[in-house]
Amino acid sequence: MSLAALKPDAEVPFYLPIGQECALFQHAFRHRLPLILKGPTGSGKTRFVAHMAARLGVPLITVACHDDLTAADLTGRYLLRGGETHWVDGPLTRAVRQGGVCYLDEVVEAGKDVAVVLHPLTDDRRILPLDRTGETLIAPSNFMLVASYNPGYQNLTKSLKPSTRQRFLALEFGYPPEEAEVAIVAAESGLAGQRCRALVLLAHRLRALGDVDLEEGCSTRLVVYAATLIAGGMRVEDAVRAAMIEPLTDDVETRKGLSELAAVTLG
Ligand code: ADP
Repeated sequence: MSLAALKPDAEVPFYLPIGQECALFQHAFRHRLPLILKGPTGSGKTRFVAHMAARLGVPLITVACHDDLTAADLTGRYLLRGGETHWVDGPLTRAVRQGGVCYLDEVVEAGKDVAVVLHPLTDDRRILPLDRTGETLIAPSNFMLVASYNPGYQNLTKSLKPSTRQRFLALEFGYPPEEAEVAIVAAESGLAGQRCRALVLLAHRLRALGDVDLEEGCSTRLVVYAATLIAGGMRVEDAVRAAMIEPLTDDVETRKGLSELAAVTLG
């Protein structure tokens, strides 16, 4: 697919590219290769996938993976309706039948049997065997599997097995550089760039706090939340507390320290 064939911007969710990720996604789509996005929560992975699916003009089916998600939740199951059993496609099967991007968000959270379903779809066979119906679906050329996970999240029992990881192209997401993050926050919130800059500076300082026991740094999503509240008329101090401090930790002492840093940074 050429660039000219991509959809015009008006129909596409806003996404500010940070590097060559849009080109990589396009190449992956064209060559029918699956892609995995690695990075912290709130760093733009979901928005990126929505943006690319829209640009390519294909449907997007998103699955938020969780502990109890089984292969049957993805492929489908027989349900009893009016005394009869009917096969109902799961989201992955729907995406394979109709084409489009199937996005498995936080794929490491899913149950172990999910990998078994993904493997034949992520090599050159590109098939989805449905044991229960006896069908073997062949993925159309406009089907693409995209998954995401957060490698920084400290949970050793929940890392992706190399046998699964090595079936995907991979792209790392981080927090955007300062200028890009200011542009993103301004575009998303409607707050003036200069006011967004102070929030972004605070986010960078919060992320740099190596010695504080925060599970995750302050995400771009949280900076957008703070800016949105401020643009809506909330006091900066209150908005920052609600959006950029409270969500980071439940520890009272740590929060006090973060609030002091915010006060110094925002003046
Ligand atoms: P993730 O899927 O990584 O958890 P999201 O894609 O939901 O994160 O991003 C959270 C929010 O951050 C988005 O809703 C958007 O407002 C903003 N965002 C982050 N990065 C970008 C970007 N590069 N372009 C546009 N918006 C972005």
